[in-house]
Amino acid sequence: MKRIGFIGLGVMGSRMAARLVRCGCDLVVHDIRKAPVRALVRAGARAAGSAKAAAEGSDILISMLPGPAATREAVIGPQGAAAGLRPGSIVIDMSTSDPATTREIAARLRRAKASMLDAPVSGGMQGAQDGTLSIMVGGRPSVLRKVGPVLKHLGSRIHHVGPVGAGHTIKLLNNLLFAAIMAATAEAYALGRRCGIDPGTFREVVNTGTGRSFASEVKLRDFVIPNRFTPGFAVALQLKDLDLALGLGRELGAPMMLTAMVRELYQAVMASGRGHQDTSVIASYLGDTMGGAGAPGG
Ligand code: NAD
Repeated sequence: MKRIGFIGLGVMGSRMAARLVRCGCDLVVHDIRKAPVRALVRAGARAAGSAKAAAEGSDILISMLPGPAATREAVIGPQGAAAGLRPGSIVIDMSTSDPATTREIAARLRRAKASMLDAPVSGGMQGAQDGTLSIMVGGRPSVLRKVGPVLKHLGSRIHHVGPVGAGHTIKLLNNLLFAAIMAATAEAYALGRRCGIDPGTFREVVNTGTGRSFASEVKLRDFVIPNRFTPGFAVALQLKDLDLALGLGRELGAPMMLTAMVRELYQAVMASGRGHQDTSVIASYLGDTMGGAGAPGG
């Protein structure tokens, strides 16, 4: 059986790692926080004290980290995984990151005779738990074929989208779309509250209409209407993704007017002290700006 090293046991990584253990994989886990490592060990994984230790003896190394800086440190930093990888091993970065960093890491790994795939995901923590994520993979098809059985434990839709970096590019496109749709859904919801519309009625009607989306179907049901915003997809991570998407546009000289505006909206949510809460908390923020029935407790 292939041994898998797994780095980054946050909201997503802890659920994905637990699922791999449940599927019978031989898993060695690492995180800079001790508590999630202990929880995975109780579930049947083994602990590694560093990213390098997680890589040693592993055939596949999966990272699920906040973004480019953490991934660079964990994979090619001083105590990074690259120093522990053996020739022929495969690194799969499932974080949402930027394509330029990914290509740089892939080049460094090639020198160590290891391969890399970027394989970011969509589907949230429920998808991570159930193994129903959508996975967008950049890298060589021959490498993807080798790790396909492992990715199938995590996702129900696996898309090969191009060379290394293409996975992260398309993920940033997906997330700028989601951020804008979430913000628009939140504004409509908050205005609806202000107009005295029942939250359940709003959800039901919009989801049979043309305003329907992941935000209206899942985010309203699981976060906004219950007014419970942790754990989830943090506003701080949403902001990171918008900055990375804007960076792609800047590199090419492409204007990104809507994304820039949406980015500032999430910056305001962050500045209001909600950065650790699920991105859908923007509904509560916008409710506050509208006053009356949209405000908390209103
Ligand atoms: P998170 O902040 O909950 O988890 C990140 C984990 O990485 C934490 O446990 C942290 O301690 C650990 N970490 C940070 N730096 C490290 C290092 N150098 N070495 C080892 N561990 C380190 O984030 P998350 O919500 O699990 O998201 C992970 C990634 O997946 C992000 O890139 C995010 O944008 C993306 N994503 C999140 C969701 C979601 O719904 N939460 C959905 C799709 C994609």
